[in-house]
Amino acid sequence: MSIDINTAWDELKQKVAGCQKCGLCRTRNNTVFGEGPEINCRVVIVGEGPGADEDATGRPFVGKAGQLLTGILENGGGIPRRSLYITNIVKCRPPENRNPSREEASSCSEYLEAQLLLLHPDVVVTLGNVPTQWLLKTSQGITALRGQWINWRGILLFPMFHPSFLLRNDSRAKGSPKDLTWQDVKSLKAKIDELNKGS
Ligand code: SF4
Repeated sequence: MSIDINTAWDELKQKVAGCQKCGLCRTRNNTVFGEGPEINCRVVIVGEGPGADEDATGRPFVGKAGQLLTGILENGGGIPRRSLYITNIVKCRPPENRNPSREEASSCSEYLEAQLLLLHPDVVVTLGNVPTQWLLKTSQGITALRGQWINWRGILLFPMFHPSFLLRNDSRAKGSPKDLTWQDVKSLKAKIDELNKGS
């Protein structure tokens, strides 16, 4: 039986838009499903959850942290944002921008799993502790894990600092989070080029 991929995406989006599986549905204004190419997508970026700007617009990474992420990808790595799929562990904003709880992440995980199944990317980039620890089922922190290419379910997982952390740590000195992220985005670009050459 052939699967109509567009129908699968539409059904998943509708499911998320009406979801009341966890308490975050009570305080959200909009669900934030994710955006990017829905076919032939090499790289998926996974953040922790929507913030105020994302909750207001229904789009991922559009606030200050999102703008910084876009700048780092495009100016630091030459990676157009529109070439990546961007989503989060939870699709509704946790109040006061707190981290999502394990229960909330668990309730929402079926949607991320379905997105990854439909996209079947080569690389998943996790931003910060929450998505990195959730997907890898580890208690190791982002400082130890960032910049490593980790084999995860047969694809590559690449943890990087969350752009919100970079907003709070503005130094560009050698070894600073921004400097390390600059290196990471270059490593990501090199991997994308390598994958493109092989396809
Ligand atoms: S965070 Fe996820 S599981 Fe919870 S209500 Fe929103 S879409 Fe549903």
